[in-house]
Formats: sequence, C-alpha cells, structure tokens
Amino acid sequence: MTLPMAEHSTEHFTGSFTQQEPIPEDAIEAAVAVLRHGRLHRYNLVEEEAGEVALLEQEFAAMTGAKYCLAVASGGYAMATALRALGVGQGEAVLTNAFTLAPVPGAIASVGAVPVFVGVTEDLTIDLEDLAAKAGQASVLMLSHMRGHLCDMDRLMAICAEAGIRVIEDCAHTMGASWNGVASGRHGLVGCYSCQTYKHVNSGEGGLLITDDAEVAARAILLSGSYMLYPRHLAAPGAEVFERVKYDTPNISGRMDNLRAAILRPQLRDLDRQVRRWNERYHVLEDGLRRTPGLTVVERPEAEVFVGSSIQFLLLDWSAAAVGAVLSRCAARGVELKWFGVAEPVAFTSRYDSWRYAPTQPLPKSDRILAGIIDMRVPLTFSLDDCALIARIIRAEVSAVWQGGV
Ligand SMILES: *Cc1c(COP(=O)(O)O)cnc(C)c1O
Repeated sequence: MTLPMAEHSTEHFTGSFTQQEPIPEDAIEAAVAVLRHGRLHRYNLVEEEAGEVALLEQEFAAMTGAKYCLAVASGGYAMATALRALGVGQGEAVLTNAFTLAPVPGAIASVGAVPVFVGVTEDLTIDLEDLAAKAGQASVLMLSHMRGHLCDMDRLMAICAEAGIRVIEDCAHTMGASWNGVASGRHGLVGCYSCQTYKHVNSGEGGLLITDDAEVAARAILLSGSYMLYPRHLAAPGAEVFERVKYDTPNISGRMDNLRAAILRPQLRDLDRQVRRWNERYHVLEDGLRRTPGLTVVERPEAEVFVGSSIQFLLLDWSAAAVGAVLSRCAARGVELKWFGVAEPVAFTSRYDSWRYAPTQPLPKSDRILAGIIDMRVPLTFSLDDCALIARIIRAEVSAVWQGGV
C-alpha cells in the first residue's frame, strides 16, 4: 500500500543519531573478568599471562596483515605517535586533507608541525591533482579517509612514491574497508584507527596503530610509554630494534589498558558482520535519496569496499539559506543532519579555515564542495525501516525547498 503524499509529509523519526548498540555480552564478560582480577595496566601481568592489550594487538595485526600493531589511548594519539615515530618535528610541513575532522590537523599541531591542506573533490576524497601540485612542500602526508571515502589509493601511492612522501593513513572511518583488495591502513607506512564510541568498534576511547616498519613500530611502542617492558608486546619487532632506538625515544604515555582491550577483542571478531549491517542500512538510505532533484548522491567506486557507518550527500551550489532551511525542516521531523558548510564550527563539524593555528591558503574549488556537504551518522540501532523513513523525510524536505526556491 502506498501512503498518500500528505501522510508522508507528517512522518516523524524518533530514534537517536548518537545511540550506538550496547557492548556485546561476551565483551562485558571479558571486561568483568579484568575488573575481578584488577590488573588493568597492560604490563601488570601474572606468569604466563599475555594480557588483553597484547592479545588485541596480535589479533589486529593478524586481521590487517600488518607485521606490527600498537594499541593506544585514542585515534588522535595514534596519529601524533606516528608523526613522532617518523621524526616529524617543529615547524615541519605535513600535507593533510582540507575535508577532515579536528583531531587530524590537531595531531599535526601537537608535534609542532604545520598542516598544509589539500583540497577535496566531489567524491569527498583528497584532490589528487592538488596533492601532486603540493607534493614538493612536505615529506609526510597525513591522509584522512574522511567519512570512509577512499580515493584512488594506487594513484595516491604513486604520486607519493615519486615525491618521496611517506603516508600515514587516518582510518578512523575505514576499519574494515579496502581499496582494490588492500585493507585501508595497509597502503601507507602507518595506519591509525580510532576505537572511540562513534567509530567501528567501541571502547569509549582508544586507538590502534599498524605498520610493517620495524623501527617505526619500536619507536611508537617506546613513545606510548612501554618503559623497558617492550618484550611483553606480541606484535612488536625484536629486541635488537629497540636497542637501536631506546635511548633517544621519549616516553609520552598514552597506553591502552586491559579493560578497553577486553571490550574490543570480541568486537573485532564480529566486525565483518557489523560492516554488512552498516552497508545494508547505507544502501537503503542511498536508494531512498537517489533521483532527488537538487541532491547529489556520492557514487562509490567499484575498487572501494567501504563501511557505511555514515552517509553524505551534496546540495551543490545551494544558497546557505536554502541548506539551512533543509536542515531545520529535517530536524523538525527528527532527522539530524550535519553541514560542513556552516560558517561557525558546530559539535563535531568544523572546516579547515576554522583551525586558525594553521596557516590556510584559499581553496575555492573545495569551498564550493564543503559548502554543499551534508553528513549523517548511521548508528546500528537504526532498523532498515528507520533508514527508509529517514530517506523519505530528507527527500521530501530537499524537494520542498528546491521547488519552493527558498
Ligand atoms: C574520530 C576521528 C579521529 C580521532 O579519533 P579519536 O579516537 O577521537 O582521537 C581522527 N580522524 C577522524 C576523521 C575521526 O573521525
């Protein structure tokens, strides 16, 4: 049965855009076991005990195919640690995306380095032409796979190889994603992940760093605050590598603890199933939004396996007033959309020109795109029916404003 139009226009969504699923029961049990023995510090182990953190690192390394893995306190900390492990220091330029979230330029600023912003395309990926043009300006790229969109990684790596640029991947939104069969985080020298509540596994806070480079791994482990207890790591290089770097690597504590690791291990085992569930929801939303006049769906390339934990669409070349009208009309019907074009930073959303500690050059092509990016979280607490309803509401309100010429 199809509902008459009037019914559609009064539909409301009542779910929460910030409510994730509960922590799975097996993860709760593992957490309670850690609480009962009380050894929360990762190096507080009894004989023969590997510890939850070391096991998590071993399992994540195996999952991604990386030689080495380090679990840390947050995704931002993982990125800053990667920069330090690469020797990036005071005043050094680091290329990064203009379209990303504040912890990315923040990680660069935290080591005294200077972000150089590279533009964004209509696919919401880094502008490879702009990257090629700026390649001479830095020896490190902090590549943010913002909102899970992967650029042509083969081309990006070719540009960077030719320019001698080392790549750190920010995989906060791409845990479980891949490009041409290669896992996100495995193209560059280092991959960094976040285990914060809004990402793909949830320990409240937390981060993971992977690499195949023995010296980078050893430095990262020492940096994270291993003292001389690094032999307790299971996804680490041999002692001889630590011998080379242990006297000149500072301890900047940012370890993960056994409680968080205990919560994360069962979630990692379940990641593939969760990815399928996110993508089912994403496809219902995407199908519902297609062919809405004035609205551009972001097409996903065939080489990209993504995780639809959020969805974006473009209202390209709309006036700020019209975009504002869509947002408030959707909000009135319970649909919370974020807008990257808003002049002032709001909640999690901000733009490259709001990070005023970093010098910015104007990026007019990117400004046009940023001004049109609408973003929405897709928590797994949404049912497929919820997603269909949300898409109907967005479609109705975008169409109403578009036709009304607000
Ligand atoms: C969340 C996020 C991070 C940082 O993760 P935290 O664990 O919150 O420090 C980095 N990059 C992007 C794009 C993110 O969304």
